[in-house]
Amino acid sequence: MFARLSILRHFIAARWLRRFAGRAALEAWQRRRMQDFRREVLAHLPLYRPLALAPLKDFPIADKAFVRHHFAGLNRLGISHDEALPLARQGAEVAGVTIGMSSGTSGNRGIFLVDAAERQRWAGTILAKALPPGGLARRHRIALVLAANSRLYTTTSQSGRIVFDFFDLTQGLDCHLAGLAAFDPTVLVAPAHVLAYLARAGLGIAPERVFSVAEVLDPAEAAVIAQAWGGPVHQIYQCTEGFLGITCAHGTLHLNEDCVLVEKEWIDRGRRAFNPLITDFSRRTQAMVRYRMNDVLIERAVPCPCGSPLTALERIEGRRDDILAFSKAEDGLALMFPDDVRATILDAAPAASDFQAVQPDPGHLAVALAGDVPPDQISAVRAALCHAVRRLGADEPEIAFTAYQPPTDHALKLRRVRRGFGLP
Ligand SMILES: [Zn+2]
Repeated sequence: MFARLSILRHFIAARWLRRFAGRAALEAWQRRRMQDFRREVLAHLPLYRPLALAPLKDFPIADKAFVRHHFAGLNRLGISHDEALPLARQGAEVAGVTIGMSSGTSGNRGIFLVDAAERQRWAGTILAKALPPGGLARRHRIALVLAANSRLYTTTSQSGRIVFDFFDLTQGLDCHLAGLAAFDPTVLVAPAHVLAYLARAGLGIAPERVFSVAEVLDPAEAAVIAQAWGGPVHQIYQCTEGFLGITCAHGTLHLNEDCVLVEKEWIDRGRRAFNPLITDFSRRTQAMVRYRMNDVLIERAVPCPCGSPLTALERIEGRRDDILAFSKAEDGLALMFPDDVRATILDAAPAASDFQAVQPDPGHLAVALAGDVPPDQISAVRAALCHAVRRLGADEPEIAFTAYQPPTDHALKLRRVRRGFGLP
């Protein structure tokens, strides 16, 4: 009962109470939350105590390796990464704190520590921002088609009018089709390529709201999904590191700056491309300060018509590893963003229904085209890519065409553009 009231309280706060008159009001509110966070959390953590009064820019930038290395200094239990790992695999609870693992596949899964209050706040906030009009006053059946279950999601299955069903992608996708049709979700949450697959499968379901999560929403897939169930296709931007963004009624993705502080680390200002550094001033069990996400976000050039002061994004373009890099004679490497790779390939080969582009090293690129693509379009792709790379001032790569492999393991994130080597 207490849990349900707590979720409701956060639902109301996120849906109706946290309204900001403008950007200045939002930033003033964030400053107050940061002061509380410094006093209540950072001042008690050995790693950050000496910095408790320092400006944020003096804090070290954190990433996966940093968190793993300093794990014990970042959480309230003082538990190390090695101690937490076996507990996370079981989803164990220690002193009221759940130790869990993010969804995804081995290698990339992160460990998170949350207590009951944080889970309830997460559930209330995400429901407030995700549910269609009517919210908790109506019954909803929410289908989560994701790679791994987590205690975060099961929290909300106790929320009375909301029924969750979880369809585990690690078991495959076709085995869930009948179950999904029978569940008949009002809200459907899945990775973009899985939504497109379900849209094409014609399950006879009619979700009111469809959310793409966990991977880049490809424009062609968005069109297939919108055609099946009506648009816009909504997006949730969330990961081990927290609930970071969600689309508004206009289908624009906004950062959840009413939950986290986001610093923009610019990759290319002309393109409005940045890496977000996330500081989550709401979390108490495990501190996240200046955490650099691997994602490349593109800021919207014009404000969203919804009028929200929360930063509006044009799109999530992919991960840093999805930016290709070609050799340049004098000064190192020229970067080519995944969206440009996509547009260059698909504009030159309109017969291709999908594609993959993998770069093993700066001088080579392997391209695979799906569908019946005539030879002249394949030549056009080669010429267009070479032209695009030359325009960046880089040397033409050797381009090889390989057989297209459709995704078979739906639990893996689909990445059409991939760089197979590190950047200096
Ligand atoms: Zn908006």
